[in-house]
Amino acid sequence: MHTNPNTSIDIATDSAWMRHALTLAAQAAAAGEVPVGAVVVKDGQLLGQGYNAPIALHDPSAHAEIQALRQAAQALGNYRLEGCTLYVTLEPCTMCSGALLAARLARVVYGAPEPKTGAAGSVHNVFALPQLNAHTQVQGGVLAQECSALLQAFFQQRRQQQRQQAQPLRQDALRTPPARFADFPLSAPSHYVADLPPLAGLRLHYQYLQAAPEQANATPPFTSPATWLLLHGPQGWCWQMQDLLLALHAQGQSVLTVDLPGWGMSDKPKKPATHQPAWHGQVLQALCQHLGLGEQHALVLAADDALWLAALAPSLPNLQALCWLPAGLEQAGQQGQLKAAQAAPFPDAGHRAGPKTAAKWSTPPLAQSPLPLLDLHARAQPPQALAMQAVEYFAALQLPYLPPT
Ligand SMILES: [Zn+2]
Repeated sequence: MHTNPNTSIDIATDSAWMRHALTLAAQAAAAGEVPVGAVVVKDGQLLGQGYNAPIALHDPSAHAEIQALRQAAQALGNYRLEGCTLYVTLEPCTMCSGALLAARLARVVYGAPEPKTGAAGSVHNVFALPQLNAHTQVQGGVLAQECSALLQAFFQQRRQQQRQQAQPLRQDALRTPPARFADFPLSAPSHYVADLPPLAGLRLHYQYLQAAPEQANATPPFTSPATWLLLHGPQGWCWQMQDLLLALHAQGQSVLTVDLPGWGMSDKPKKPATHQPAWHGQVLQALCQHLGLGEQHALVLAADDALWLAALAPSLPNLQALCWLPAGLEQAGQQGQLKAAQAAPFPDAGHRAGPKTAAKWSTPPLAQSPLPLLDLHARAQPPQALAMQAVEYFAALQLPYLPPT
């Protein structure tokens, strides 16, 4: 490793830039890419940044370092980035190390070592070849623990997801092929669970965004709803709820969206008799328990369908309030895309036992529910505006909400 006694290294500055690279790495993780982030800095100024995105960009060279280098070179109007420092959360690979040398950076600072592909000392050291490198000083181990913790969490979650996705299909159920959902990407990570008692091995799809601890209402009176259970109606699935999921989360709320069994990306029992509202309610209740949202935890049920709210509310004992949303809260607002999205989970009539049975549910009118109801269903407004109104309304109600756990 080269050291340059003339370069004074400010540890606090290095940590601060590495922390910025870590936030970029987290963005990569959220997009399903291996979480690596990089920034290029000169004289305390950010010139370029990027995160790992080979999957999204269909580009094997779209590593974080390359993205950051490209941006910095554009900013400087020069392919040589002399006097610049690149911070990256993971030890660079051979490709990136070559690019970093070509850019003539002053320094490369990385976080975690990469024992399988690292080209700055782990597998080999491109920077130590005097024939290749006369410019670039390398330093590893800055915030190494945080950088590798992010990677470990990512791979652990991916292994868990793969195990969950490998759940065998019950003989009396159907599973929609993943290709049917290719045109309808979701905005938040998907999770699956099959080991809840009422599911008896059926695979259930859900998404869960928790309020950041600093946003949660930590002092009494606890007037914020603890968790929103955001449900599709008989014609929908999680996809239609993505905008509202993000909008409520942006308002500091914890939000859970679920594809009921028979809908969306969940397994679809073939027998119509299975699809009773009480059973679907038990599934939701069991999922809440599974996520630590048990008896002590307050819920608001939000759906774009009155029948849905009236049918499912009685099975959820810790429900505090209801919210009726406008129908067709579509992701893109295009009627054609909404129709295609609604059809995506159902390759044939055999998959439609759930929606067909739900159309015949007889439930008491929503007005008879004893729970407070916010009715926004006639308001055609953007999800952000709806989320704001809903949060304000329920905060003002001062329901006996319990502290977020
Ligand atoms: Zn690389």
